[in-house]
Amino acid sequence: MDFRLTDDQELLRRSVREFAETEIRPHVTEWDEAQHFPIELVPKLAGLGLMGIQCPEEFGGAGMSAIDYCICIEELARVDPSVALSVAAHNGLCTSHILMFGTDAQKRQYLVPLAQGEKIGAWGLTESSSGSDAAGMRTTATRDGAHWVLNGSKTFTTHGREGHILVAMAITDRPAASRGISAFIIEKGTPGLTPGKKEDKLGMRASETSEVLFDQCAVPESQLLGQPGRGFVDAMQVLDAGRIGIAALAVGLAQGAFEAALRYAQERRAFGKTISRFQAIQWKLADNATRIDAARLLTYRAAYLKDHDRQMTLESAMAKLYASEIAVQAADDCVQIHGGYGFVKDYPAEKYFRDVKLTTIGEGTSEIQRLVIARQLLAR
Ligand SMILES: Cc1cc2nc3c(=O)[nH]c(=O)nc-3n(C[C@H](O)[C@H](O)[C@H](O)COP(=O)(O)OP(=O)(O)OC[C@H]3O[C@@H](n4cnc5c(N)ncnc54)[C@H](O)[C@@H]3O)c2cc1C
Repeated sequence: MDFRLTDDQELLRRSVREFAETEIRPHVTEWDEAQHFPIELVPKLAGLGLMGIQCPEEFGGAGMSAIDYCICIEELARVDPSVALSVAAHNGLCTSHILMFGTDAQKRQYLVPLAQGEKIGAWGLTESSSGSDAAGMRTTATRDGAHWVLNGSKTFTTHGREGHILVAMAITDRPAASRGISAFIIEKGTPGLTPGKKEDKLGMRASETSEVLFDQCAVPESQLLGQPGRGFVDAMQVLDAGRIGIAALAVGLAQGAFEAALRYAQERRAFGKTISRFQAIQWKLADNATRIDAARLLTYRAAYLKDHDRQMTLESAMAKLYASEIAVQAADDCVQIHGGYGFVKDYPAEKYFRDVKLTTIGEGTSEIQRLVIARQLLAR
């Protein structure tokens, strides 16, 4: 075993960190307050390969590994978790689903513009009455000659409004339950596809989240993604890998919050000394640094398994569960160490505190991660 990153990975970390510090950091508050999805950043992200991180070079991507992917998401989240969430959803859900289950023709048609940042990806599984119980969806797709016609809606879709290429799951054979759900690729502008309400969120406000509505939305047979009836099963595999990205996002966010807390503790004075001299503050810093390291190792282990084509359902759920929960603690401690200044917008603490909660909810709540972990353990 070797716990060190390679020289190339260290260089990648430095490049993405420098990019995030110069191109993102100055705008974080403005984008958050305006709930502005920074579409203008996309060509710059693409320039670094961040819109097709794990997509092979033959499809216009950067062909990086899952561990490289974690490094990229971590470094974006350290500065702005919203941008990291958008990049993770684009890469880890929409692009990844097409890469894993698309035909060669679908990959050529859709992956190239996604990986080059010419188009933004969205992925719709969740509906208003089915999130954790995703197979309880209501959206249907019925065959009409050479087309499938979708009716229904998706909720909480990242890039539901801004996205150009949507992968959506719909019921094609109701009696077959979760084995009767199929996936479709739908392009923005297809008649019958319209964005619904844009969500006004607690955190992750620069990442756009919207409803998507289907009203007699017809797509040709060639846009069925994967085998008919396999859409839900395939989506669960996409999520196994996607959760590694959310774990990395949580690690990066926790790292950002920790660094802000460490910096502040060394500046702020009380009782004639910096607050970093108090053991109560030191223990918070020590505990957070230790937990962040543990979460990073769990995340890299899951990514390593993915890179070696090994099953990682258990490990990715463990990484996502642990990293998100320790990130909540890190953001909470960051606010606490800032005292009253943690409660106002002059410091980054309050934004980490708002953003972090998404990590215990998106791509499967903590309760669902525990359920996945327990099922895996009991099946052995
Ligand atoms: C900002 C944001 C972006 C998102 N992006 C996307 C996206 O791009 N695509 C997409 O498809 N979805 C997306 N989601 C949806 C997200 O994945 C769901 O919100 C999440 O899976 C939870 O579903 P729910 O909100 O319906 O909660 P529910 O499933 O209603 O859960 C409510 C509570 O009940 C608990 N619960 C439910 N079932 C069980 C059980 N069996 N055992 C124990 N506890 C249980 C949950 O853990 C939770 O605490 C996004 C959500 C947000 C907030």
